[in-house]
Order: sequence, then C-alpha cells, then structure tokens
Amino acid sequence: MHTLKPYATQSARMRTRLHTEKPSGAANEHRSEFQRDRDRIVHCTAFRRLVYKTQVFLNHEGDLFRTRMTHSLEVAQLSRSMARALGLDEDLVEAIALAHDLGHTPFGHAGQDALNAALKELAPGHGGFEHNLQSLRVVDALEERYPEFDGLNLTLATREGILKHCSAKMARELEANEPGGVANRFTLKQQPSLEAQLVNLADEMAYSAHDIDDGIRSGLIEMNALRELNLFERFHSRVSQEYPALQGRRLLSEIIRRLLSAQVFDVIDQTRRAISVQLIETESDVRQAPPLVAFTPAMAQEVREVKAWLFKHLYRHAQVSSKMEEAQGMVRELFAAYLSEPKLLPDAYSQHSDLPRAIADYIAGMTDRFAQLKWRELQSA
Ligand code: MG
Repeated sequence: MHTLKPYATQSARMRTRLHTEKPSGAANEHRSEFQRDRDRIVHCTAFRRLVYKTQVFLNHEGDLFRTRMTHSLEVAQLSRSMARALGLDEDLVEAIALAHDLGHTPFGHAGQDALNAALKELAPGHGGFEHNLQSLRVVDALEERYPEFDGLNLTLATREGILKHCSAKMARELEANEPGGVANRFTLKQQPSLEAQLVNLADEMAYSAHDIDDGIRSGLIEMNALRELNLFERFHSRVSQEYPALQGRRLLSEIIRRLLSAQVFDVIDQTRRAISVQLIETESDVRQAPPLVAFTPAMAQEVREVKAWLFKHLYRHAQVSSKMEEAQGMVRELFAAYLSEPKLLPDAYSQHSDLPRAIADYIAGMTDRFAQLKWRELQSA
C-alpha cells in the first residue's frame, strides 16, 4: 500500500458506520474499513444489476456499448490511478466509484426523469426521484444481506462520496435523521473529502471519453466531425502524424487513450498545485477550502466543449431521443399500473407503508430488460 498524505481520508469519524457491528474477527484483520466497503458493494444485488442498465445506449442495442457496470469499472480505474499519484486512499475511491451509480433507473437519465415526473404527478407529496439519493438509499436501506441491519452499513466516507449532490431541503431532512452525518457537509456548505471530489471528476472524464467511443461505434457520430473540438483535434493530429496509416478503431483508441492520459496528468498537476497554494495539510483543511480536485482552466474549457458537443450531437440525436421517449413511456406506464393495482407488485413492495416510494424503489431497481419484460406483461394482461 502506498503512503497516504495527511490530507487523505483517515479520521475515525469517516470510518464510522450507522449500525454498530460485532468485531469482525481475525478474517478481517487484513482488510481496511474501505476495503470492506468495496467488498460489500461488489457482492450486493444492485451492483450485479448494473450489467443490464443503460449508460447512453439501451442495453439490448449492442453487446459492446458501455453499461453502468463497465462505466463504473472505468471510473474506478481512473480514480485509483489518480488517487495513488496524489497519496489518497485508493480503496475509498474504488468503493465510491463502484457504488456511485447503484441508484440509477433502467434506461439511463431518461428513466430517471420519467420516474421523477411520475412520482411528482401521480403521487404528489411523496417527493421526487434523484439517482444520487437513490444510490445512498440502496446502500443504506434497500439491500437485504445482513441479519442485523438493512442496507450495507458502509462507512460515512463512502456514503458521503456517493451523495455528490443534494438539495438544501433534502440535506436538512438527512441531517435531522443523522446529525453530523452524510449531509452534514451540505448544511455546513463545505466540500467533501478529496477522494469524493476525485471520483466525481473521474466520472466526467470516463463518460466523456467512452461516449465518444460508443457514439462512433453506433454510427451516430463521425470521427471527422469530432475534429472541430480542440481537444480531439490535438490528439487526432498527433496520432496521425506518428502513425500516418492508422485509421478506424485503432486510430480512435489511440486518440482516446492519449486524451484520457492527458486529463489524468492535468488533474494530478492542478490538484497538487491547489493543495499547495491553499496550504492544505489536513482532512479538515480540505473541507473548508474551495474544491481542490480540478482540471486546469484550459483543460476544463476544452472538456466543457466536448460535453456540450456530445450533448448536441449524441445525447440529443433523434435516434437516441426516440428510443429514450419510448423508454420513458414504459417507466411512466409501469408506475401508473402499480399505483392503481398494487397487487401487481411483489408483496414486500405492495405492503410497504409508503406505496409510491416502494414503487419507485421497485422500478429503479429494474434492469432495462426486466423493465421491458414487465411492461410487455402489462400489455398482454
Ligand atoms: Mg457515473
């Protein structure tokens, strides 16, 4: 194990869990608390479901597109590399990365938007749906794996990393239930740990790179069109000069590899600089400082251009949008059907004291193909 810097997450407070557990015994002496978190996540049900959940392209459209699972693994890989270079806790970033998307609905962001709208319109007063909060709900309440508590009982550090956004109202609610806990930093208007900040940025790096790759694979965008982006063109021209005969997938892979390495180096340099300029020495300095993990301003601008370009040409592409509208219809119809006929739900959900929330949990837990199956069953019923 590499040496942790003094500003890495290591305080006893961040290793606390919601439920006191029996001493774990000799078998766990070789595992840190954050390794235990990582292991609990890898073995949980919601993690396995990520294999069949959409990232951008619907899961059944092709075997080679990213899914939430491969996306999460890529985020974990990038996070670990950067954490090691920065002297942060690699096990903690891995745990946060592998858990960060556990709360995603089927059909990607479209599914989330549809579920949020269905809750608000069809069951007013029961709150909305947001995937970060749902990821926390999965690890805190929904997983059923332990005899003595619900959820996975993860450490505060991992849970805080999972909850990367939170409205002020929700922060107050969470804080009331768990004073000084997972939402405390929102109520204090502080930053989360460096590990949490790092995974957040690695998430962006991963999807902007792999969505270029998947977008080209799908035929919806073309490599030459991407050359209007400074960041892409820079690496395209370097690779083409070095390997004039290279084309197609190998050219693209080499461009993306270099583009990601450049971003990794950029973040490491910029973050080291910020830590030194802000005189950061401890975990608590990290919390009180402005965000420290970042791209240089020049790289940040180029990455914003890539994201805006992908938004316009890929995420809003007519072919993607029409599939997503179809998916949104399915989510809404499933929600409406379960609300009017709770007996369609498994017992554990239909007997829940807050039916709309239980329906949202059930639908959010579905994989793309299970949601499609359930929707088809409704049509033939
Ligand atoms: Mg993500």
